[in-house]
Amino acid sequence: MSLNQPQFRPPAEQDSVLIQMDVGCPFNGCAFCGMYKHLPHEKRAVESILKIIRQEARAQPDARRVFLADGDAFSRSVSDWDAVLEALNAAFPRLSRVNVYATGRSITGKSPADLARFKAKKLNTLYLGLESGDEETLRRMLKGETAEHMIQAAQLAQSAGLKISVMILLGLGGREQSLRHARATAAALNQMQPRLLSALRVVPVPGTPLFKWVEDGLFQLPTEYAIVQELRELVAHLALESTVFRANHSSNIIPLEGRFPQDQNRLLAELDQLLASNTLDTQSPGPLPFWL
Ligand code: SF4
Repeated sequence: MSLNQPQFRPPAEQDSVLIQMDVGCPFNGCAFCGMYKHLPHEKRAVESILKIIRQEARAQPDARRVFLADGDAFSRSVSDWDAVLEALNAAFPRLSRVNVYATGRSITGKSPADLARFKAKKLNTLYLGLESGDEETLRRMLKGETAEHMIQAAQLAQSAGLKISVMILLGLGGREQSLRHARATAAALNQMQPRLLSALRVVPVPGTPLFKWVEDGLFQLPTEYAIVQELRELVAHLALESTVFRANHSSNIIPLEGRFPQDQNRLLAELDQLLASNTLDTQSPGPLPFWL
């Protein structure tokens, strides 16, 4: 196996065979993200990827799920994707799904016919970091993409039969824009209608611009109480028709999960109970977990 460290993958992919198409992230510019800050981006040659696939298939011939890393492996060209998906199907006879991190850019760089062909070759879920539906927050966080574009990308992928798993970051609007960030994010998600939604809490990572802004007093994290209020505002404004929702990452203040629309009222009740409990810090963000 040939893997460069560190390795990042969504929690749901922990049992998938991990194959690095790329090392690092081709954009690597988001102000909050420290995942690949010190790792130069490298596009692996297709021949090397095919060799890794054959090695992995010898080690795990019955594997059904594959996750293709790193940061935005979906940005590789259409011909690279055709070659890799064909090799995966040939190497893993029981293959059922291939999942990958994607961005709005990497999705809209493919045509509807390309996406439908990838789907037929077992591409299944694209993990997309929306982070916020608020354009000003995305600009401030140097996301390099607009919410509008990511909404179009999600709709394009879903029209081709692919699943979209969207990640958002609570607290990304800071103290001042907390509720606006929540409402705009809910509005974007309502247009996307993702199959899966994960709400994480932003934690400033040393070495990132966001960490420096917090140190310099240029960005204030919402208090622990305000983060829960923000999540409540988000949940209250969601109009999702069939989405699995998770806010159970170590960065979250309490673990929450459910399905929309049927669990929406239960989630709101749990958040209301927490807000009324007098246990939340109303002055500071409270304890933050060690981040990756
Ligand atoms: S959030 Fe995603 S696109 Fe942005 S720098 Fe990190 S890996 Fe790259």
